[in-house]
Amino acid sequence: MPELPEIEALVRRLRPHLEGHRLVSTRVLHPRPCRPSAPSDLEPLLRDRRLLGLHRRAKYLVFNWEPKPALPTTLLVHLGMTGSLVFSEAIPVGGTHDVALMEWDHGHLTFQDPRRFGLFTCEDAVLARLGPEPLSTDFTPGNLARLGTSRQPIKVRLMDPTQVAGIGNIYASELLHRAGISPRRRSDRIRDAEWPVLHDAIRQVLEEAIARNLRAYEAGISPYYHEAGTRGSWADDASPFLVYDREKEPCARCGSAIRRCEQGGRSTYWCPGCQR
Ligand SMILES: [Zn+2]
Repeated sequence: MPELPEIEALVRRLRPHLEGHRLVSTRVLHPRPCRPSAPSDLEPLLRDRRLLGLHRRAKYLVFNWEPKPALPTTLLVHLGMTGSLVFSEAIPVGGTHDVALMEWDHGHLTFQDPRRFGLFTCEDAVLARLGPEPLSTDFTPGNLARLGTSRQPIKVRLMDPTQVAGIGNIYASELLHRAGISPRRRSDRIRDAEWPVLHDAIRQVLEEAIARNLRAYEAGISPYYHEAGTRGSWADDASPFLVYDREKEPCARCGSAIRRCEQGGRSTYWCPGCQR
């Protein structure tokens, strides 16, 4: 499942192809990603539009259009579990997993989503409910310390998008390992001196992952699991993760066996030796 670093890398990858360009027309092939709108409602909104900017907010790709009277200025795309956005200058062949086709003045952008958990919508109210971006310059250790007002386990708290935007299951495990903090620790038991350590770990782990994903794109490798039927570059022994999906393997830092538990219905991985 793509998380913040995978989406950020994708946005940086697509931006030079799309920003400043004109979207000629859009075809939505499946109704589910644009719910509650119907494809026939959405398609007229996404025709002859110039893209002013493409950016990421949490795990959403946000397309900002040049304003036109009575038309929305935003398109949100969420890749869900398995989605991908592929730009090509040639007309794409077309496949069973295509859910939306966007024809641009100089190429084609195809949204593929085999499991159809993704979103393709001009409704952007969800953005207002998101917490701060962990990589933004105005996100400080002091902002992060506000998570300490809860008794929830710190990993569950970090994954609440109203508290911090875009931290997903894989990177929550990884950055807590980097910070030496147990994912099961109550948020209100994080000590004052630990918030800056956790803040640094968030930045480092996410930035490193963005750089790794960009390198994967440059090498022609799908950067995340399950993209359109391939497993991406994480599937083999070269997994970049130190705890995620490594139950019972020795911790690279201290040699203790990595453990796994369930938190909020998701698997958490941590090292009992170097995370307290
Ligand atoms: Zn360890």
